Amino acid sequence: MSMMRIVNSQPEPSILITKEEIAVAVRRVAAEVKRDYQGELPLLLGILKGSFMFMADLIRQLDFPLEVDFVRLSSYGSEKESSGKIKIVQGLHSGVKGREVLVIEDIVDTGLTVSFFMNYLRKKKPASLKLCALTNKPSRRQAPVAIDYLGFTVPNRFLVGYGLDFNERFRNLPDICVLEGEG
Ligand code: 5GP
Ligand code: MG
Repeated sequence: MSMMRIVNSQPEPSILITKEEIAVAVRRVAAEVKRDYQGELPLLLGILKGSFMFMADLIRQLDFPLEVDFVRLSSYGSEKESSGKIKIVQGLHSGVKGREVLVIEDIVDTGLTVSFFMNYLRKKKPASLKLCALTNKPSRRQAPVAIDYLGFTVPNRFLVGYGLDFNERFRNLPDICVLEGEG
């Protein structure tokens, strides 16, 4: 029963944004993306792991030709605070030069991760480069980031669910939640 105790000692998530509210936001963002990219064969580039669920829901609302790729960056490790040191753990398989590139991110917090990655991509000379983020935590910003398409502005709380994890748990929750007892 030691396994049971470990599971029960985890903090409890409580809902901040419901799956219905997420679905509405995803449809709104998808309509904006469609308006701007239809006929352009954009490359949607997701930042793993957190963006996988948002990407999956977003592209199912985009009924025109597009391509999808993912990169994996590391900044957090298993901690809640950004280290500011970003590494590309799993790189790009698609050519970016001359492409209409739309980066898909789960959350812009300090902004260090995405500003690093946008600068890295810009050097590869895409035709255009924009950012689509599910959530934005502007109170924590350290590096300036322009978000072109946004789902939600969120308070300075640690979020889990809908792809977002705490120590790799809670990614499977359908709603965006905060952890109880979290300060
Ligand atoms: P930044 O570099 O903007 O501080 O953080 C970027 C990454 O940190 C995000 O892509 C996300 O993976 C992680 N992160 C930032 N805030 C949160 C949060 O509230 N919850 C979770 N699960 N991850 C977060
Ligand atoms: Mg992320």
